[in-house]
Amino acid sequence: MNTGAITREELEEREYEWLAPYAMKSGESTGRVHEEEEHPYRSRYQRDKDRIVYSTAFRRLEYKTQVFVNHEGDYYRTRLTHTLEVAQIARTLARALRLNEDLVEAIALAHDLGHTPFGHSGEETLGELMKDHGGFDHNSHGLRVVDVLEERYPRFSGLNLTNEIRRGIIRHSTPFDMKRTGNIHVPGSWLLEIQVVDISDEIAYDNHDLDDGLKSGLVNEKDLRGIPIWEEAVSHVNSRFGACEGEKRRFQVIRHLIDRQVSDAIENTLGRIDDLRIESMADLSKRDARVVYFSGDMEKKRSFLREALVNKLYKHYRVVRMSGKASRFLKSIFAVYRDNPEQLPPHIHGKIAERGKYRAICDYMAGMTDRYVLDQYKKFFEPYERV
Ligand code: MG
Repeated sequence: MNTGAITREELEEREYEWLAPYAMKSGESTGRVHEEEEHPYRSRYQRDKDRIVYSTAFRRLEYKTQVFVNHEGDYYRTRLTHTLEVAQIARTLARALRLNEDLVEAIALAHDLGHTPFGHSGEETLGELMKDHGGFDHNSHGLRVVDVLEERYPRFSGLNLTNEIRRGIIRHSTPFDMKRTGNIHVPGSWLLEIQVVDISDEIAYDNHDLDDGLKSGLVNEKDLRGIPIWEEAVSHVNSRFGACEGEKRRFQVIRHLIDRQVSDAIENTLGRIDDLRIESMADLSKRDARVVYFSGDMEKKRSFLREALVNKLYKHYRVVRMSGKASRFLKSIFAVYRDNPEQLPPHIHGKIAERGKYRAICDYMAGMTDRYVLDQYKKFFEPYERV
């Protein structure tokens, strides 16, 4: 005899048994902008996660890059693989801390949807070009993607996600993310689930930039000598595996680094929850404090590693060249569209009437993948290329 399917109502009930009192429960969601009947078998956040995965912006993450542009090699991280790494670190943290794993996963999968082609260089360039026209930053644009730009449903624009996820997209902020969210307000407090995604993003990008940096040869192991967290990881790997060289060694060191940071964050967060006497959702919104974070010791160790990444990788002349090149492509294409909007494809013309020329061009360009930008560039500037 079968035992029957678990319904959404039962899933909601189980969250009360399993999750911490300060975890966000899907049944307590403040809802969606457009009212919809909820699904019989999926919780609200499960459903949002599915909506994000089926979106156009999510699929394009595969051909958007961060530090290393796509055509430099196939083995570096893209926004898509970064997003998946953030989601898996975040799920580990959420499960260990008894937080809402579905919510955390949905926010993590959506956290970079607002990114332009060519990583931070693309974002800075669009920010500059849009300076006098409402500005641009990837967090507000991420919200715009899920609220306005995705076209999936007949009765409304956007994905109509729950407020907790929309809030997660807008409140997602790391030292690298520019905090210019303007007047956009999404109801809700700084949930621990949102904080989990922030810290997972930090762990993921530092460690994969280090990994990609080493793999590319732009960073050498000798550049990292004397950095405590690196030395600890190396001596851990040496004592465990002895003579382990090359790719396997690099993998083991990075693996240990991530594991140490995740464990530190779990332990320190539990301590913070006790210290701040957070026992309920109400306590959480009263405090509005950063709860999910590393210990002071780990924070200091991480800062040395970041410093090395900035000096050795982000300021490496080849990385600076990649950024400069990307910025020139974007500026030239933007100028073509701005000075002569008739060159835009017809489906953008209607958007110009609706949002104004600058915003319509910005939305269009922010959605492009790296390789689409390169194709456009060729079309416009190479004499023998077909338009
Ligand atoms: Mg990210």
